[in-house]
Amino acid sequence: MSTIDQAVAAAGTALPDVITGHIGGKSVPVDAGATRHNVYFPGTGEQVAALQEDDASTVATAVNTARESFSRGEWSRASTATRQTVFRSAAKLIRDHADELAVLECICAGLPSSHLASRQVPRAADNLDFFADYIGVMAGETFEQLPGYQTIVTRQPAGVAALFAPWNAPLALASMQIASSLAFGNTAVLKPSEFTPLSVLRMVALMEEAGLPPGTLNVVNGSGAVTGAALAGSADIDRIAFTGGGQTARQVMAAAAQHLTPVHFELGGKSANIVFDDADFDRAIDGSLVNIFSNSGQICIAGSRILVQQGIAERFIEAFVARTRSLTVGNPLDHTTEVGPMAFKAHQDRVLEHIARAQSEGATLLCGGEARADLGDGYFVAPTVFQVESNQLSLCQEEVFGPVVSIQVFDDDDAALALANDSQFGLVGYCWTNSLTRAQAFQQRVDAGTLWINTPLARDLRAPFGGFKQSGIGRDGPRQAADFFTEEKATITAIGAPPIRKLGAAAD
Ligand code: NDP
Repeated sequence: MSTIDQAVAAAGTALPDVITGHIGGKSVPVDAGATRHNVYFPGTGEQVAALQEDDASTVATAVNTARESFSRGEWSRASTATRQTVFRSAAKLIRDHADELAVLECICAGLPSSHLASRQVPRAADNLDFFADYIGVMAGETFEQLPGYQTIVTRQPAGVAALFAPWNAPLALASMQIASSLAFGNTAVLKPSEFTPLSVLRMVALMEEAGLPPGTLNVVNGSGAVTGAALAGSADIDRIAFTGGGQTARQVMAAAAQHLTPVHFELGGKSANIVFDDADFDRAIDGSLVNIFSNSGQICIAGSRILVQQGIAERFIEAFVARTRSLTVGNPLDHTTEVGPMAFKAHQDRVLEHIARAQSEGATLLCGGEARADLGDGYFVAPTVFQVESNQLSLCQEEVFGPVVSIQVFDDDDAALALANDSQFGLVGYCWTNSLTRAQAFQQRVDAGTLWINTPLARDLRAPFGGFKQSGIGRDGPRQAADFFTEEKATITAIGAPPIRKLGAAAD
C-alpha cells in the first residue's frame, strides 16, 4: 500500500480513478475520449488520480445549470434563515470531516496536513459561519429627507458567479469565494486549479449534504487554458471572482471585458517585513519565519522581503539563518513537517529559476538555494535566504511564491518605508517595533491593503482584505462582498399624495 493509499484509508475516504466536474448535484460522467491531466502527490511525485477536463460545452452546461437554478429561486429566493441553516450545517460537516479534507488537500497541494487540519480546514468552516451571521444582521437603507416620499435601498443577488480558485490554499480560498457569493443568494460555477481538485470537490459534496440545493454550486475541472478560459469568456455570467496570478488576471479581465462582466481580483504580493532596531527581537524572528515559510512560501501574503535595521542586522541575520537551517522539511503527510514541497513540478522548476536568477544578479546566498533531492522525488526546495543590496533585483520585485526570502539592511525609517513601497504590489505589510510613532508612520505610509504590527497573520473576517496596485481589484469582506455580489435597488414610494404635474391637462 502506498503512503497515499494509507493516508486516504486512515482518513476514511477513497479516491476516484477519474476526477470529474460536478454539475446539478451530479458528477460529470466519465468520458474515455476526454482530455485528462494527471494529479500528483507533491511529497513523492506519485500519481494520485486523473482529472477529466471539462470542455467549453460542459462549461456551458454548468453555467446554464447555475442560471436555471437561479431562476427557479430555491436558493436565490430562499429565506435568510434557510441560507443560514445550510451554511451552518455545512460548516459543522466541514469541521467533522477536517482530517479527511486535510488529507485530500495535502495529497494534491503538498501543504503540511497537520497545518491543514488545524488551520486551513477550520478556516473554510469559519468563512461559512461568518457569512451566515452577517446576512442575519445586514441592513438596507432608508432615506426620508425628500418631503412626501420614502426611499428604500434593497439588494438582490447579482445572478451567476464564476469563481476561480488557485492551488496554494484551495479550501480556504475557494470557501471564501463560495461563502461571499452564495450568502447573498447567487448561484455559482467554481473552477478549482487543475492541480488541487480533490478537497474542494469534497467540500461541495458536504455543502449539498448540508442542504444546498443541487445546481446552486457547480464545479468545472480542467486546465486554466481550456476550462478556465471557457468560463471566463461565458456571456451568461454576472460576476467573476478570481484569486490567482496577475498574468492570468489580465486574460480573465480581457475576457470579462467582452461582456462587461464585473471582476473581483485577489492577486499576488511581494510584501515587506520591516524589523526596526527597537523590536522585540525573539518575536520578530519567530514572526518573520512564519511570514515567509508558512505554506512553504506559497502564500500571497508572504513577507518575502525582510528589511532589517542596521543596528540589529548582524544578529538578526545570524539568528534567522540558523532557524531557517533548522526547519523540518519533508513529507507533508508527516505531522512533524514544517515546510512541505512545492505544489507541482513546474512550480518547483520556476522557484529554482528564481533562485538561479537572484544569484546571477548578485544576491548573496546565505542558506538553501537548491532542490532537496535527498528527500526523494517530491518537489522540495530548501528554505532559502539571500542578502541583497538593491531592491531592484528580480528577487525583490517579482513574486517567487516559494520558500525564498531576501534580507536587506536599512539605516533609517524613511529608507525602510521607501523600500517597502518600491513595488508593483501592495497586498500586505509587516512591521516589528516597540515605538508607537514608528508603528503609526508605517500604518499611515505603507501602500498595502492589510498591515500587521508585531504579529504575523491574524485574520479578522470583519475587516476588508485585498491589495493596492497590482495586488488586486476590490476587497474580500462582508460589506465588500455584499457590494460586489448584489445589485442595489432604490425604490421611491409616495407618502400620501404628493402633487404630480398634469401633462396634457391644459384644456381643462
Ligand atoms: P493562476 O493565475 O495560475 O490560476 C488561478 C486560477 O485561474 C486557477 O484555477 C487556474 O487554473 C485558472 N486559470 C489559469 N489560466 C486561466 C485562463 N486563461 N482563464 C481562466 N482561468 C485560468 O494562479 P495560481 O494558481 O498560480 O496561484 C498563485 C497566484 O495566486 C499567486 O500569484 C498568488 O499570489 C495569488 N494568490 C492571491 C491571493 C490573494 O488573496 N490575494 C491568495 C492566494 C494566491 P489552473 O491552475 O488549472 O491552470
